[in-house]
Parts: sequence; C-alpha cells; structure tokens
Amino acid sequence: MRTIAAAIALILSLAACNNDATTPTPTPDPRDALPPPEFDAIEFVRLLAADDMAGRDNDTPQSARARQLLTDTLRPLANPPADGTPGNDAYLQPFEGGTNVIGLIPGTGPLADEYILLGAHYDHLAPGECDQLGTTDDICNGAADNAAGVAQVLAIATELRRAQIADPDLPRRSVLLTLWDREEDGLLGSRYYAANPLIPLDQTVTYVNFDIQGSSFSPDLATASFLVGAETGGPHLEAIVSGLAANSPLDYYLLSEALAQDRSDHTTFGDAGIPILLLTDAPNGCYHTVHDDIAHLDTPKLLDQIASSTRLVTTLTTEPDRPRFTPDAPPITYADAQQLLRLLTRARDVNLFGPDATTQIAAATTHLQSIVDAGPTTFDFEAAATILTIAATTTDQLTALDCP
Ligand SMILES: [Zn+2]
Repeated sequence: MRTIAAAIALILSLAACNNDATTPTPTPDPRDALPPPEFDAIEFVRLLAADDMAGRDNDTPQSARARQLLTDTLRPLANPPADGTPGNDAYLQPFEGGTNVIGLIPGTGPLADEYILLGAHYDHLAPGECDQLGTTDDICNGAADNAAGVAQVLAIATELRRAQIADPDLPRRSVLLTLWDREEDGLLGSRYYAANPLIPLDQTVTYVNFDIQGSSFSPDLATASFLVGAETGGPHLEAIVSGLAANSPLDYYLLSEALAQDRSDHTTFGDAGIPILLLTDAPNGCYHTVHDDIAHLDTPKLLDQIASSTRLVTTLTTEPDRPRFTPDAPPITYADAQQLLRLLTRARDVNLFGPDATTQIAAATTHLQSIVDAGPTTFDFEAAATILTIAATTTDQLTALDCP
C-alpha cells in the first residue's frame, strides 16, 4: 500500500509536472496560409486524363507533368509526410523508374498516431500499350483507371481539410494520401512504399484503395460498384462497410479480398498484415483501351462514389474503435455467393452479352442459386472454388463488353 507521504510526493510531482509543462510553440501549418481548398473532381480527371498527359507512363515527361498537377493540388490539402524541405518535391518518394506522391493530413488528439492510408495509382500506359479499338488514336488516357481514383482521394482529402478548418479537433486519426506510380508494372510503387514506409506499418490501421471508378455499365448495372476485402479488418470494418452500402445511392456489392485476384495496390498492404478495403468498379469494355477517357466516364457515378467514400473515410478517422487485421478470415464465404447471385441476376440483361456469355451467366446463376439455397452450413471448399471461378469469368465477360 502506498504511504501517505509517498502519495503526497506523487501529487506534488504531478502538480510540478503540470506547472513545468510549458506550452510547446506550435509549428505553423503551411496550409493555414492558404485559402480553404476547392476541388472539382471531374475537371481534375479531365486534366489528368487529357491527351497531353499521354497516359502518364512512368519515367516520362508526361508523368512529371502529372506529378506537378498532383503536388499543386496537394499543397493546400496536405503537408509533406516528413519535416524538412518545403516545396513540391517534399511530397515525392522516388524509387527505381518511378515516383510516388504522398501527403499527410495530421490528426489531432490521442488517435493521431494511428494512420488511415488512402491510395490510388496515378500511372497508366504508354501510347500504343492499350487496345486502339481499330482507331488511329493511340493514347491510353486512363480516366476510370485511374485518374478517377486519384480524384477521389483528393476529393476526400479536400473534405477532410475543410472539416479541419471548421473544427481543428478533426480528423482524429491522421490520414496519409498515397498516389502510386508503376502500379501498371506490377504494384511497384506501393511495394516500394511498404519496404520503405514513411509511417511505421504497425501504426497504419487501414489502407483504402481506389482503382477503377466512374466506370459505366449497361442500364441494369449502371450503379453497380464493389467494396472488397472488409473481412480483413474484422467485424468492425465489415459493419462500417455494410452501413455505407445500406446508405448509398450506389448498388454496392461486398466481396471478399480473394475475389479481387490481387489486381491492385491493396494487395501490398494485405500482404503486410494491414486491414484493406478496395473500392472498384469491375473493368468494363473501355478498360485498357483508348476509350477509357473522360468522354466515356460515368461522371454522376463518380460523384456518388466520392460522396459515399467521404462518409466512409470520415467514419474511419473518427470512430473510437479501429479495424483489426483478421488473418484467419475464410478467403471466400457464403456471403460472397449471395452477393454474386444478386449481381448475376441483375446482369442478365438480355441484349447486353453475346449468346455464349448469356448461356454461361444463366448456368452460373443456377449454380449460385443452388449454393445459396443449400444454406451457409453446407458451404464448403467446392462451393468456394465455384465462386472463385464464377467471379473470374464474370470479370472477363464484363471486360469483353463493348465500351459504352
Ligand atoms: Zn488501375
């Protein structure tokens, strides 16, 4: 038991601590000198996916121009990730053959040491590296893939910054904006970051990835979009994502990470044991063609996606609880069967697919229906394998459609 004398000494020392605690001089935030940010996501996609960016392939003059646009946009929103040299170069993380662009919105209070990463790749393909669809155009603009994802990260950052100007106690968690280079070469930008993180990976509590947004489909699938991998963050992240899906004008499908087939930078962070979430539209007929440009972008859909994901990120940055990585989550579940069945039922748009795909989709729908009818208790390895195959086939069928 503590003696009275010791207790008094402790109280005195605490009081002394309080008295001695000189208020540290706050470092001036360079963003405070700038007016509140404005951001027009559609205009931004128009610029980033313009012909004069030539597809933003890594290590090209056009890639450098794209970075100039990114850093100019970042300055009023986010600080460089490390103290030191001010200026646009402070946002750059160069690596072999590429350069990531990274900005920090610092959080406030006891959760500020926890970081939410928002990521999107800004690189795309060199002229001639995508399908020219029989045209003389050879520029791979990459509007949906992935100028739109980058615009979404910056739009969310704008809202976070505006909220912070209105209430300096926001956001509670810190937010790192990570715009990757060389995703198209095999996730090289995000892989480099994970090997050389600017924030310790064990303080990175969730990575949210945006890749292929504003991608348009048939009328029946016009609002379809995908939220992938919430199971990696346990029941807490799953509940946040379900709540988002229930309160969005978009028709969100929630799928397990395994069904995204390691296609984008979220894979890097999942491999590092960090909860991930991928927001994506499945590739459509414009994917990796010269028609993935602003003229073919579904801009109302992108704006809905921005509004929904802003709410998602606001929740992630303010909730007292945080997602926890769940390494033992089953890779594919009964819920995936339910979600895919709902998607395929909706996709049986009579004139959309050719005869072979229509037959395959009908067979897949019947198969999924039998898995769902059998109930969750009989869901087994064979059912999971079937779902993996159907998801891959469906992705191929959507990609094979005409570019709308
Ligand atoms: Zn992409």
